[in-house]
Amino acid sequence: MNDSGEKTDRRKALATLDWMAAMGADEAVGAAPVDRRGASQQPQQALREAPPAPAPSPAPAAPAPLAPAQGAADAREAAASAASLDELRAALQAFEGCALKRTATNLVFARGNPEAPVMFIGEAPGAEEDRQGLPFVGASGRLFDRMVSHIGLDEDSLYITNIIFWRPPGNRSPTDAESAACLPFVRRHIAIVKPRLLVTLGRPALNTVLGIGTGINKARGRWVEYGEGLDTPIPAMPTFHPAYLLRNPAQKRQSWIDFLALREKLDSLA
Ligand code: URA
Repeated sequence: MNDSGEKTDRRKALATLDWMAAMGADEAVGAAPVDRRGASQQPQQALREAPPAPAPSPAPAAPAPLAPAQGAADAREAAASAASLDELRAALQAFEGCALKRTATNLVFARGNPEAPVMFIGEAPGAEEDRQGLPFVGASGRLFDRMVSHIGLDEDSLYITNIIFWRPPGNRSPTDAESAACLPFVRRHIAIVKPRLLVTLGRPALNTVLGIGTGINKARGRWVEYGEGLDTPIPAMPTFHPAYLLRNPAQKRQSWIDFLALREKLDSLA
């Protein structure tokens, strides 16, 4: 092949890769590459040469997707039955009511100290979180860690999770049905941890957990009460999501004001 033919092939291959990543196929699943371009001819030739293979046993059927209302009802029941964080994690591992579980590599549950006074709630795991099974360990997580370190918080003094426990393919936004299926587990998560303070990161967590329908710009930095499943309501504050701050660094100033308010609130706890 001449140079220009090679360049065209390369361009086509890169365009295919871009398209696949946009469709959510952005993870390598095998250690060695497989060239499938001649796949339609190769099996026929192999069939002529090889003795007939025994009939393959049927692959186990994937569980049928649940209707959204059924997923949410199952979630409420499974979440309510968990009395500890270990039980809640096990209930999520066994839960089949959220389709994201089928495309994700790992359940992303939480990181940090469940005894810490403050619990943060973000949106959904990305590629790095999916790989490690831990929330906020990618680029947003690194920014988050830097920001909280300025108010004296680290893994021992905070606890962090998401409103979605599995990575949406290609980092798309979670659907309403996926959020509804995870929400009972999020509420139970908060009720088991019983933090002194709650901080939601970004609009989806504001809308879902705090049930506030306004945009994040309007709601951020204001303390409200969160009481679902708790004997005594706790102060909760929405603020920007670190991924938003990575895209809009000018907003870090507002975010810093919120983090200082959080520090003040922590200091005021008896
Ligand atoms: N963004 C989130 O909302 N959660 C993560 O865990 C990572 C990025």
